[in-house]
Amino acid sequence: MTAAASRAVFLDRDGVINRNRDDYVKSWEEFEFLPGALEALQRLAGLDCRVVVVSNQSVIGRGIVTRATVEDIHRRMTDAIVQAGGRIDGIWYCPHRPEEKCGCRKPGDGLLRDAAQALDIELASSIMIGDAQSDIIAAKAAGCRAVLVKTGRGVEHAARMPSSVLEGVYVAGDLAEAVACIARLWQESSMPHEVSRGADHESCPIG
Ligand SMILES: [Zn+2]
Repeated sequence: MTAAASRAVFLDRDGVINRNRDDYVKSWEEFEFLPGALEALQRLAGLDCRVVVVSNQSVIGRGIVTRATVEDIHRRMTDAIVQAGGRIDGIWYCPHRPEEKCGCRKPGDGLLRDAAQALDIELASSIMIGDAQSDIIAAKAAGCRAVLVKTGRGVEHAARMPSSVLEGVYVAGDLAEAVACIARLWQESSMPHEVSRGADHESCPIG
């Protein structure tokens, strides 16, 4: 890494940090951290990287909740994460409906690129953790590596994802497993020898 630019772990929100709801998370009362997520975020805070949430929130564009409500949820979420010893360096969300064909809604990479520009993040050394095919496509479009977690829609999406999309993607059980893998990867990449990929179960198989 250069002295200026930093790497990041990009996190999808619903299905990675908190429980997905078919009817959207419409208030803080409906926001429920997934088991182990706060502990995983605490561990992530100890890594040398930015921690950035990138989330599709078409619930705004659909007129179901206001932008203010989503930002209230994000403020409280961040407070709870900080209380648990974690940190969030920034949250980027797309308020648009799919029909609006914006550039920020994942699988577009606009959110990641906006965050990278604002926080001076080096995308090529960054990793996106998500539960959906759109997260993986967005990560690859931005030049990041990707981890798919089996929480949220992860199991369903992993099963139907084309192998070309899934190629090089590490599938983790949950956020804790994803963070553990990244911690190993980055520890290993700071060592003099190149990480051998795939063969060693102790190494991180992120592609
Ligand atoms: Zn958008």
